[in-house]
Amino acid sequence: MTDNNSLESSVGTLFIVPTPIGNLGDITQRAIEVLNQVDLIAAEDTRHTGRLLSHLNISTRTFALHDHNEQQKAQVLVERLLSGQNIGLVSDAGTPLISDPGYHLVNQCRSAGIRVVPLPGACAVIAALSASGLPSDRFSFEGFLPPKSKGRRDKFMSLAKVERTCIFYESPHRILDSLDDMLAILGEDRQVVLARELTKTFETIQGMPLGELIPWLNEDSNRIRGEMVLLVHGHREQADNELPEEVKRTLGILVKELPLKKAAALASEIYNLKKNALYKWGLENLS
Ligand code: SAM
Repeated sequence: MTDNNSLESSVGTLFIVPTPIGNLGDITQRAIEVLNQVDLIAAEDTRHTGRLLSHLNISTRTFALHDHNEQQKAQVLVERLLSGQNIGLVSDAGTPLISDPGYHLVNQCRSAGIRVVPLPGACAVIAALSASGLPSDRFSFEGFLPPKSKGRRDKFMSLAKVERTCIFYESPHRILDSLDDMLAILGEDRQVVLARELTKTFETIQGMPLGELIPWLNEDSNRIRGEMVLLVHGHREQADNELPEEVKRTLGILVKELPLKKAAALASEIYNLKKNALYKWGLENLS
């Protein structure tokens, strides 16, 4: 074991251990070492994790820690850690705590002065972002979308002007309804990417404007099967120098006959662009 995996201390260590999100080859060497050497593995679903452990020939004992018992069971695990046991935390797939249990345990461990060691590894949001072609310098991970339309629309309203890439987890039976709500709030031109079945046989990463993606998905129900991540391009303010030449020319013609405000309003309607951006450009260049 490398230094950071060292288990020689009177107080135990909690290791956060990512597991594959599809392709079993994505477990890391270090994750296997840690899962082999800890005293106990806290798992979201012990039967599910049991299958992974038997595939890896690991016989470490497991302990159930899921959304419904986490607050109460975290204290039991903290006591075991304080008594010197080392524990690995896993979820069903990917990185624990990322739309998965673990927050209360980690929080309580850190409050109790217990060392928490994160292992990097599979995570659907990061895998999806890295291949999406959307800006990755700043992004906002929003977890699962609300189950009801009103909640989703409120969510999209609150994100409408956010310039970062926004990323959601969504289930196949809700994706079309969620995209309809998104269309109603963000409009058909917003660029979105649907990353499906990552690391698995039918992996697809499809990017399109929202107004094209919805009919494309409706054409074939296979396109909404499986696990998926939805990524949305951040809001783009129409910059002056981004105005197409044709738009500038039209605005130039209109402004000869009309006040700038009226000309900008007409041009914005013709080209489906922001009135303010046209007005601002007109002020700076035509008056
Ligand atoms: N902790 C996990 C992680 O690190 O990504 C996420 C767990 S969350 C309960 C499960 C959701 O993650 C799925 O509903 C889906 O939105 C997304 N997801 C998980 N595996 C995926 C995959 N192979 N391809 C696309 N999305 C995936």
